[in-house]
Amino acid sequence: MDITEIFGSKTFGDAVMRTQLPAKVYRSLKDTSLLGKPLDPEIADVVATAMKDWAISQGATHYTHWFQPLSNVTAGKHDSFLSFMDPENSSVVSEFSASALVKGEPDASSFPSGGLRATFEARGYTAWDPTSPVFVRDGTLYIPTAFCSHTGEALDAKTPLLRAMQALNPQALRILRVLGCKSFRVVSPTVGAEQEYFLIDRALYEKRLDLKLCGCTLLGAKPPKGQELEDHYCGRIRLRVADFMRDLDRELWSLGIPSKTKHNEAAPAQHELAPIYETVNIAADRNLLTMDVLRVVAKRHNLACLLHEKPFASVNGSGKHNNYSISTNDGVNFLSPGKHPEENKLFLLTLCALIESVDAHADLLRLSAATVGNDARLGGFEAPPAIISVFLGDALSGMLASIAKGIMPILGVNGDVNTDVDILPNLQKDDSDRNRTSPFAFTGNKFEFRMPGSSQSIAFANVVLTTAVTDAFSRFADRLERCEDLDTEVAHIISDTMREHSRVLYNGNSYSKEWVEEAKRRGLPILLSTLDALDCMTAKKNVELFSRWGVLDEVECRARHEIMLETFVKSVTVQAQTLLHMSKRQVFPAAAAYVAQVADEQGALERVGARNKALKAHLAQVNELLDQIGEATEALRVCCQDPPAHRHLRVQAQYVQDVLRPAMENLRTACDEMEAVMPEDKWPMPTYTDLLHRI
Ligand code: ADP
Ligand code: MG
Repeated sequence: MDITEIFGSKTFGDAVMRTQLPAKVYRSLKDTSLLGKPLDPEIADVVATAMKDWAISQGATHYTHWFQPLSNVTAGKHDSFLSFMDPENSSVVSEFSASALVKGEPDASSFPSGGLRATFEARGYTAWDPTSPVFVRDGTLYIPTAFCSHTGEALDAKTPLLRAMQALNPQALRILRVLGCKSFRVVSPTVGAEQEYFLIDRALYEKRLDLKLCGCTLLGAKPPKGQELEDHYCGRIRLRVADFMRDLDRELWSLGIPSKTKHNEAAPAQHELAPIYETVNIAADRNLLTMDVLRVVAKRHNLACLLHEKPFASVNGSGKHNNYSISTNDGVNFLSPGKHPEENKLFLLTLCALIESVDAHADLLRLSAATVGNDARLGGFEAPPAIISVFLGDALSGMLASIAKGIMPILGVNGDVNTDVDILPNLQKDDSDRNRTSPFAFTGNKFEFRMPGSSQSIAFANVVLTTAVTDAFSRFADRLERCEDLDTEVAHIISDTMREHSRVLYNGNSYSKEWVEEAKRRGLPILLSTLDALDCMTAKKNVELFSRWGVLDEVECRARHEIMLETFVKSVTVQAQTLLHMSKRQVFPAAAAYVAQVADEQGALERVGARNKALKAHLAQVNELLDQIGEATEALRVCCQDPPAHRHLRVQAQYVQDVLRPAMENLRTACDEMEAVMPEDKWPMPTYTDLLHRI
């Protein structure tokens, strides 16, 4: 398989455009996609026809405006290219007009809108994002689009991201210009999103209602072997999984997704995929597409791909490490320290902008990673805690601290790593050791935000980062443009940043209990659950930040808050109903039959005078557990029946958090205890050992 031939073969990418479009049209489209110039309406017709012809040559019969409603999945209605020549004549032609390419109007009343659209005025529009390549998949031409309401409010994940990119560009260019770099035309965030996932056998998956409906297990006793031996991490990839990965890569590459690295993760059955980084809106689109391809290819291999943040208790959950930097269109990375970071003003200012952003908007970053699934992941099992801090490493922290004090830092020469084996090469040490426990870590030439959950779109996390950096850059540019001496002003910006924001810097072990205490002392926000984080969406400072940069206005912030609350309430409620169902229809009947069987056995022994202490004790134990399951099931049923549906959404959410979740936890505990003492063949669903180790 020749990667270079496969790569991008299903996208209307640069090579196809170059050959299929007239030179003038090609250049104009490139100006739009690379330089962010408005799309010239004159060229849309030519582009549409070329696109259609190319798509048909790839086997497409349909096209779809592919968009990202606020539900972490993608959507689209499929239209065929079919058209009648004229109404009286039934001969058909294929047709795809400029207007069909540029604008769509899905009947979109069922997507979450947070009150931005009532059903009677449910019109929603999709608008082509010409910066993100179209592609053909399963006989359909996919056109990445933004999705907004009749009155222009963003109803999707993409629109605010495009707005944030648009806001960043001029502010970043101001910074470059004041530093004397005048030739650059476009600056964008770059992102590489590492994706973790679990793979399990499809037949076993089909037997678990919780996995099918909620994407995670809602009960399941701890298996004798989880990840204790750490023998899965980066271990040999099983043949069945390797086959899957080969197919997966092939499909991703054909769609133009630069899948680069694959490996086994720490938990059994857990894996990771990392692409090469791209401009953030393309990275966000392609991550969503990757998630879909993962699911589909897994199914083809009789596997199920679980993208939930915590499919299994007692082993690691899955995240999505969001590697973030900022770069010019010709590849100058703002976070590249270079040989002399202490003199690299662009690097130092960008570092300061990010430190300030993370400290001032830790609440928003936490919010961007707030999902029902992530509640179970964060703060345990190698996942970052719910407290946001920044890891810079000793060298960089020391350097900033020195500059802030007006001392020119002396950077130590990085020594070699000596293995004491003559035949092995000497390796140069990196600037800092890695800190795997930090939620926001500097890793050489980018920051890695490790909190987002594996099932989430990365769009909002990057909206927050990009808007916050824009805000910082604009203030830095104001100062630098007015100052008399550039060097002095940069040093002042660094010392102001350190004075005001160094509380967010932490190089220690973020998993430790001491850090929670220390974070409290420092006054950092500790937002432990999704519900704690949600309300910051409408906090004054955040609405002002988003409004100032035209990313989200107050109405849009309120709508998003409402959608998040609603999603939270609905997700947990579906989980509760699913657990109830499994308990009533599977666990309780199986457990009751088993208790009756043990009672029979015990009775039979007693009748012949063979009293057995162990069996008697076991009967008492399982009988007691059966009672507990019965009681906890009834308690959960009552909770589910009594949700304060008529009350305000915020009150419902609190009820879900304070009443429903603990009731689920109680029932789970009872079921798991029963599972641990029941014979395997009597347990009514695949166990953790089956799911994690049978592949
Ligand atoms: P690490 O070993 O630190 O995880 P990798 O080289 O494996 O680093 O990269 C991890 C991810 O970070 C990849 O998706 C990679 O493309 C991405 N990445 C590298 N450089 C940048 C950058 N400048 N901006 C954004 N992402 C980047
Ligand atoms: Mg990494």
